[in-house]
Order: sequence, then structure tokens, then C-alpha cells
Amino acid sequence: MVYSPPPERYDTLPYRRAGRSGLKLPAISLGLWHNFGGVDRHEHARAMVRTAFDGGVTHFDLANNYGPPPGSAEETFGRLLREDLAPFRDELVVSTKAGYTMWPGPYGDWGSRKYLIASLDASLKRLGLDYVDVFYHHRPDPETPLEETMAALGQIVRSGRALYAAVSNYPADLTRRAAALLRSQGTPFVLHQPRYSMFDRWLEPGGLLPALRDEGVGAIVFSPLAQGLLTDRYLRGIPEDSRAASATGFLKADQVTPQRLAQIAALNALAQERGQTLAQLALAWVLRHPEVTSALIGASRPAQITDALGALNAGPLGEDELARIETILTP
Ligand code: NDP
Repeated sequence: MVYSPPPERYDTLPYRRAGRSGLKLPAISLGLWHNFGGVDRHEHARAMVRTAFDGGVTHFDLANNYGPPPGSAEETFGRLLREDLAPFRDELVVSTKAGYTMWPGPYGDWGSRKYLIASLDASLKRLGLDYVDVFYHHRPDPETPLEETMAALGQIVRSGRALYAAVSNYPADLTRRAAALLRSQGTPFVLHQPRYSMFDRWLEPGGLLPALRDEGVGAIVFSPLAQGLLTDRYLRGIPEDSRAASATGFLKADQVTPQRLAQIAALNALAQERGQTLAQLALAWVLRHPEVTSALIGASRPAQITDALGALNAGPLGEDELARIETILTP
């Protein structure tokens, strides 16, 4: 059946400006790191992407290596574009990245011009697109001069393969240097993608948010639900079909400690008092910073996306609630 999203899809989710750029992103964006690979059921992936777009999610985040196997999440999204979303291309912000291992040998990893340009060309083929909206350098490269990596991003944007440049996992000082290099070439640097959640706050003392504010770059924060820990998934132990129970992936069962479970239960109680789910509370918490443009979630089922879309319905967190969260999070 021809996909026909509801006309009122833009009526509820806020769209927030990425730094001082012209680009706005939905407060909730969907990432395709897990559950959209070649090993996953296509119709299930399709249902999740449709649920997101139906609810006003315009931004879908990919990387060259998402799968498994690597590359297959881009193939899945390419197929979904052909099946459902191609008529809505101008309503979408599609991003991809290069920076982690993608192919063997010295040219399939890190941050050389050689790698970045070849990788994006391969991503565009898998996606079936002429351009992506945002292209990221996925992680800092300690060996390649930053000048080379940023010049490659500049060339990519000038060539029309991407509209905007971005970085991920860069510390504050490197982000400032990257911003200066991109500015000197006239390359629009709109987004930084760091990990950030109540359970992972490295960017707060690291000074990344002030750097982003100064440079006019927005943050789109990944794993805002701590890969599912900050949801109702683990309130009664580790479900069999959860990420922590899976043999692969980065969330391990031993991270679900008694201390974490006590924090999750206390946070869940606060969420309930606010009339929201724990996932919604965790998303409202990362979105409290004006520098955070979007919370980049993952999902294993459509209902999780619907839940996330209601994150801001309960209103902003008050000072007393923020203080209570600090108390819960302090070991
Ligand atoms: P999240 O912290 O949002 O974790 C997603 C997981 O949380 C889901 O798979 C699901 O777990 C659970 N979940 C989500 N919503 C709910 C809900 N409402 N109720 C209950 N459980 C829920 O993010 P991810 O770790 O998946 O990362 C999101 C995206 O960030 C990625 O897809 C990718 O685009 C990007 N990313 C970027 C990185 C980078 O280096 N730049 C690194 C990692 C991610 P379950 O599967 O157990 O049901």
C-alpha cells in the first residue's frame, strides 16, 4: 500500500535550531545503529521508520558501519526511501558518518581525505542518494592532521555530496580547532554528536557545551537513554529480548548493577509523579540544555518511538526536580 503519512505530523514535536545555523532538527531524532541491519526483519524496520516520520521525526541518523553487517543499515534506509520516503526527500535530514573501521587496509578507517571521500561515495550508493544532509567525521584521529580531515569535509560540502559538516566524539578543544578550520573555508559546521545521558555526563566537566555555544554549533546527543537503561525495560531485571541480554553490542548485562537498578527505580518514581515514563524523563533531562538541539534515540519497536515523542509533553523540569535527580545520581 502506498505510504501516506498524516498531514498533521508537524503539529506536535518541537523543531530546534542547530546552533546558529539555518537548520532545524526535531527534538527527537531516530538513529539506525541497532535493529536496522541486514540481519533484522525489514518490515519491522519499516514500521519503526514510518512511526517516526508519522510523528514528525524528520531526522534519521546513520553511519557507514551500522548494521550488522557494516553498511547494511544504509542499505535498509535506501530501500525505505525507495519504498516509502522518496516523495518526502525534501522533508528529511539524512546523516551519515565515517571514522571507524569500514574496510581492511590503511584507507578504511580514521580521518584521512582518502578514507572520508571514498566512504561517503559508498554510503551514497547504499542509500541511493545524490547527497546526504549532514556528513560527520565519526571520531577524532590522533594521527591525521586535523587540517586534512576538515579540508576533506570542506571538499565534500563544496562538491554537493553533503549540505552540512559535523563531527562526533570530539573533545572541546579539538571542536574549537575544527570550527576555526571549517569557518576559514566557509564550510557550514552545524552539529556535534556526543554521548550524553543521566548515566554518562562526560561532556559537562569537559566544557563541550560552552565550546558549542561559542562556535554556534548544535549538539545532537546519542544514547540519551543509556542504551535502554533509562527506560522501564530493566525495572524487573533483564528481559530476554533486550539489548543487555544480546550476545553482541556494547550494553552488557554486568552494567545492570544493583546500584543502577536502585537509581532506575528512583528515577522511575519521579517520572511517574510527573505523569511521564522514565524514557520521557531522561529525554526531557538532556533537552533541558539550550545547546542540545536533538536527542538521538534508538528503538527496537515502534511503541518505543511513540513513547519518546511525548518526552516534552509534561513540561520542563523544575529546579526542585533537577536537584532530586542529582541526589539520585550521586553515588
Ligand atoms: P538509546 O539510549 O536511545 O537506546 C536505545 C534503546 O533503548 C533501544 O534499542 C531500546 O532497547 C531502548 N528504548 C528506547 N526507547 C525506549 C522506550 N521508550 N521504552 C523502553 N525502552 C526503550 O540510544 P542508542 O544507544 O540506540 O543510540 C541512538 C543512536 O545514536 C544510534 O542509533 C546512532 O544513530 C547514534 N549513535 C552514535 C554514536 C557515535 O559514535 N556518534 C555511537 C552510538 C550511537 P531494547 O533494544 O533493549 O528494546
